[in-house]
Amino acid sequence: LRAKYAPIIREDDYLEGIVVLLQDVTEYEKLENMRKEFVANVSHELKTPLTTIKSYTETLLDGAMEDKGLATQFLGVVVSEADRMTRLVQDLLQLSNLDYKQGKWNKKEININDIVKSAVLKLEVSAKNKRQHFVHTSYDDEIYVFADKDKMEQVLLNILSNAIKYTAEEGKIEVQVQLKSSYVQIIIRDNGIGIPKEDLPRIFERFYRVDKARSREMGGTGLGLSIAKQIIEAHKGAIEIFSEEKKQGTRVVITLPTTNEGLALN
Ligand code: ADP
Repeated sequence: LRAKYAPIIREDDYLEGIVVLLQDVTEYEKLENMRKEFVANVSHELKTPLTTIKSYTETLLDGAMEDKGLATQFLGVVVSEADRMTRLVQDLLQLSNLDYKQGKWNKKEININDIVKSAVLKLEVSAKNKRQHFVHTSYDDEIYVFADKDKMEQVLLNILSNAIKYTAEEGKIEVQVQLKSSYVQIIIRDNGIGIPKEDLPRIFERFYRVDKARSREMGGTGLGLSIAKQIIEAHKGAIEIFSEEKKQGTRVVITLPTTNEGLALN
């Protein structure tokens, strides 16, 4: 609690009273701390690849360039670190767009199955490279939601690519679309490494990762889930993540209102 005082003094110097302003700053301080933490995280995440790029380039300049094989290997690292920075900046831009341009959605009535199909198609190659089984089932063909197509596809790409990343070779990834009365559920289930119980409550926070090293190795930025949550909530939906036990896999459930009934409502 923050307090401010101001005396009320009459012209003849008589103290008439005191105005006391009590302000609850807990929420403010919480936001301020989150902001500071975010800036610290961004700086750290950008600094890490920059340090690597600089040291590899210096080693090349110091003579490693003479060795063609070594030079190629080092340049490969430089490119992949630059790619990481690009991904991070893209995710940050996307977050900042979501923060500041809430109103600018291109929402239309769309069939959710079309979006799921197109996301699955885009990631099929990555799943195939890991010899994973990728299954998409839907009990109803026509399930309409009032949504921004690109943003919704982004959510699915984020969730599905996590499922692929955090599931071993030859694992199984299932996408199920189920129509309930006035809403639809998209369930993405994998039989990968799972998420420990103690990490689940914070998993949607920006930059929160169970295993930083593993996420980086997989090319993750730690922002995918927070972006997904923000988009889903802007569609009056919900996203939940379940993981029973270690190594039992992960289940992500996205719930969205449908326009199948009561079209006029929208
Ligand atoms: P990242 O870019 O690190 O994947 P995300 O925000 O997408 O960031 O996810 C945050 C963290 O949640 C990941 O680092 C990982 O630890 C965990 N996670 C997300 N999806 C899964 C999954 N399907 N299986 C296991 N862990 C997951």
